[in-house]
Amino acid sequence: MSSEALAHLGLDDTDSPRGGCTTYLAALLIECLCKLGVEWVDYPNLIRLNPNAPWKTRGNGAICLRFKCGRELLDEIFARASELVAREAEMWHENTHPGLVLLEGKVPLPVRLFAKKAIRGLVRLDEALKLCARHNAKVVGFKLGRGVSGALAAIGEVLAGDHTYELLAYRVPEKRGLPRAVEARSVVEMDEATRPLTFNNYDPETGRILITPRGPDPVLLGVRGESPDVVLRAFKMLRIDEPIERWVIFRTNQGTDAHLVRRLVRELKPHLPAVIRGRVARPPEMITGGHVIFGVSDGSGEVDCAAYEPSGQLRRVALSLWPGDVVEVAGGVREGPGGRLTLNVERLKVIELAPKLVAENPRCPRCGKRMKSMGRGKGFRCPRCGLRDPGAQKVLVEAPRNMRPGLYLPPPRSQRHLTKPLRRYGLEKYGPPGPPRGMWLWPTLFRDVQEPFYCRHTKDITKCY
Ligand SMILES: [Zn+2]
Repeated sequence: MSSEALAHLGLDDTDSPRGGCTTYLAALLIECLCKLGVEWVDYPNLIRLNPNAPWKTRGNGAICLRFKCGRELLDEIFARASELVAREAEMWHENTHPGLVLLEGKVPLPVRLFAKKAIRGLVRLDEALKLCARHNAKVVGFKLGRGVSGALAAIGEVLAGDHTYELLAYRVPEKRGLPRAVEARSVVEMDEATRPLTFNNYDPETGRILITPRGPDPVLLGVRGESPDVVLRAFKMLRIDEPIERWVIFRTNQGTDAHLVRRLVRELKPHLPAVIRGRVARPPEMITGGHVIFGVSDGSGEVDCAAYEPSGQLRRVALSLWPGDVVEVAGGVREGPGGRLTLNVERLKVIELAPKLVAENPRCPRCGKRMKSMGRGKGFRCPRCGLRDPGAQKVLVEAPRNMRPGLYLPPPRSQRHLTKPLRRYGLEKYGPPGPPRGMWLWPTLFRDVQEPFYCRHTKDITKCY
């Protein structure tokens, strides 16, 4: 008799901008592993890595499957998974470099730290390969094998803290590339029935449906929410007029701000996500295209922060900032011409407003009308009663601030996968040892997969579990 093994199978970089999807390959792999009789110890994990990494795949998502099986099966599982990647990945694309890693046993601390680094910063392939060798992981890389880093990072992120779920449903091959037949009204109804436990279903400003991606990939839709139960319930509320090939519920770090860490302005480097805290250094400027740029200084340095046109309300708030305001800005660092760094704002917290003092012409002491300048240093005269006062000067007046301290995010349509939406504030799940603050007691689901989490070839989604 052979002993039982706990195994983690990581997978990354199998898609291309022209189609394919690493999660779809994972769905195929899940079915393959089910046939081999593995016992699942967690929902499949969908781990979003640093969204600012320069060579990222779309959404920069990697996958990890965690299961128990007889140790003698591991070689076969790895061989089957490699075959599947070789067959299904978008291998022809110049930026697709798939990687597959199989690690046995508990996830070692260095691998968990590697994952944090891949989510919050940049990792190198040789670091990943060294770790794999040190921990006896099986590795296969295709082409340049860059996906090995992401695959190992997915294994290392065990989602012990805050996490969410996403149900992804896939299209039959005949429909791929055609418009998605999901009734918009049913998405809004689903949102109303499940809020706040699902998020980013549609964009309230534009009415745009966000659960359906655009493009030729096999994903029909993705419902994001706080529990496996709620995403499945929400999925069943949708009116869908096309066949569903299969669906899978992933446990994920989406919507958790997992990529954001506090940094000093001096520590900023291109491609890093960062949260900086400081004072607005100079009045905001609007540049061509409607983008708003404001400088923030934290004592260690000053950096330009940019709120982009599509970010609606956030951009309006950015434009109302004033020197001296205390703000916390989160986003990704980009390098502009001449090596100048810009922080692309994806979250703006206005902590304290400074008084906005503006110089105004004095009022006429006789009739109260605002006076006019008679030229630099020559005093003022009243346009109504003609009073002249050569000694009069401009007066400083505190202007009203048409904004309030608070938290501002771009509209859902321009949020990143990792950005925590407003709806999730207060619903965060924290692992032990602290008391759970959210509604969902971690880790009731980890190591105890209760809901059926995948289904294949369903004609009627209400009959598939
Ligand atoms: Zn007057």
